Amino acid sequence: MESQKQFKRRFSFEFFPPKTDQGKEKLQTVRNQLAEMNPDFFSVTFGAGGSTRDRTIETVVNLHKQGISTAPHLSCVGGTREEIGELLDVYKENGINRIVALRGDLPSGMGASGELRYANELVAFIREHSGDHFALEVAAYPEFHPQARNAEEDLKNFARKVQAGANSAITQYFFNADSYFYFIERLEQMGVTIPVVPGIMPIVNFSSLVRFSDMCGAEIPRWIRKQLEAYGDDTVSIRKFGEEVVTNMCETLLKAGAPGLHFYTLNQAEPSLSIWKNLGISDREKIAF
Ligand code: FAD
Repeated sequence: MESQKQFKRRFSFEFFPPKTDQGKEKLQTVRNQLAEMNPDFFSVTFGAGGSTRDRTIETVVNLHKQGISTAPHLSCVGGTREEIGELLDVYKENGINRIVALRGDLPSGMGASGELRYANELVAFIREHSGDHFALEVAAYPEFHPQARNAEEDLKNFARKVQAGANSAITQYFFNADSYFYFIERLEQMGVTIPVVPGIMPIVNFSSLVRFSDMCGAEIPRWIRKQLEAYGDDTVSIRKFGEEVVTNMCETLLKAGAPGLHFYTLNQAEPSLSIWKNLGISDREKIAF
């Protein structure tokens, strides 16, 4: 973890672009609650294939205007160089200076994979198109990407994104700190040293967590799964246990030198806020980690 300790810690919250007016109002309230924590940035997801293009732009520009730097996610799958170039220009014109650059997953049956096949090609294209204007974040997978041929290939593919010009990375969520430590150790052995910020998923709802984790290849350790299962419909106990487990993991990560945390909020303030408060992150200068 030595390589990670040199980086300044940063804390961020991720949202998805709301579909309805009601969703927009809710996000505004969530944004206001989380803005009080003075995070380093917000980020807004992007539906692969461009399905949320306009909503992502609208949400990013609106949040960015309100004073906290906001980064759009941008996926290349299904898009052309020209379309991606236009999107980059829109963001630049609106003062955006950070992008989360991804390949994305095209929903089945939704057309061809596009001109840029992998995230390393997207990173190279953004550098070619916009030079160093944007700080570029890429995705990292401590438990490895579900489509990776094997762990070694996946690490090499991650290194390709760094060689192409990525500045830092955010991980897929995990509940096993050792997978993150091992991933960092392997990167260190390969001489790859950029900040790799753990992505944190608060535990709120058991069935949706299981569904989502199966889809993205994140493992829920058996002891956590079994305990959550035992709570059945008791959402209060699920949240209490989830908060404790995730807070403890975050503390372990930060103590070991993780360069910050990125919260997958799912447009809810409370679950991320309670972990944030347990950790005392608002008082960043003084935290003992
Ligand atoms: P890549 O880095 O391109 O990797 C994809 C797979 O291809 C891996 O198995 C890798 O090993 C392999 N690979 C990579 N490069 C090569 C190469 N050159 N040759 C051969 N094989 C290669 N999805 C969305 O649709 N919208 C979002 O907003 C979004 N936000 C995300 C945010 C974070 C922090 C994370 C971790 C994921 C996010 N995702 C999002 C999910 C992501 O799009 C998927 O996990 C997707 O399957 C892979 O994207 P990637 O950028 O990691 O792809």
